[in-house]
Amino acid sequence: MSFKLLLVLAVFVSVGVAQDKAIMPFYGNTKCPIEGKDVNRKLFAEHEGQRIHVCSKDCRKKVDADLAGSLAKAYPADKVVDVKNVNCPCMPKAAKAEHSVTWQGHKVGLCCKKCLVKFAKQPARHLTLALHKDLIVVGNTKCPVMPEEDVDAEYFILYKGKLIELCCDSCVDDFEADKHLKNLPAPKAPAPPIGGTGTGGGD
Ligand SMILES: [Zn+2]
Ligand SMILES: [Zn+2]
Ligand SMILES: [Zn+2]
Repeated sequence: MSFKLLLVLAVFVSVGVAQDKAIMPFYGNTKCPIEGKDVNRKLFAEHEGQRIHVCSKDCRKKVDADLAGSLAKAYPADKVVDVKNVNCPCMPKAAKAEHSVTWQGHKVGLCCKKCLVKFAKQPARHLTLALHKDLIVVGNTKCPVMPEEDVDAEYFILYKGKLIELCCDSCVDDFEADKHLKNLPAPKAPAPPIGGTGTGGGD
């Protein structure tokens, strides 16, 4: 009986939710620097290219009144995570300690000064590439959720080891909800049945 149980467990692990779930990484502060409550991810102020997420519009007003102080509170200097990436996320070259950048609590190694500018243009994307060295950038130019639309570099999602470009915020939500897998560009392996349980229980 335990063998059957193991089999069932193995199936669950191999199609594990965590790995197959599409996510847009979130690198913002999770607690409001004003009130300490959980932030609203879509509510933030910006300072020096970094987002300070807050819990309410009232808090955003307070943050706006002291951007530098709020930024320091949102991402404390003593809690910066050193990503220790080997390769520069902006160019296919080795990262060097003297060209690192710290963005929203993450320290990322870059290869040269020029890459500071590149990083700043799409920081979330470059941090993602620094954190996941084996990520495959699909490079699709049309959104798989709304196939008529050109992608926007700000919106992307990670799905099964791939970085997939999308066109807008709402497509991120839709993709996360698993609705649009059929439009994925060139899957290598046969696509899993959409919303089906086809592989279960065949005797
Ligand atoms: Zn707040
Ligand atoms: Zn460089
Ligand atoms: Zn869209």
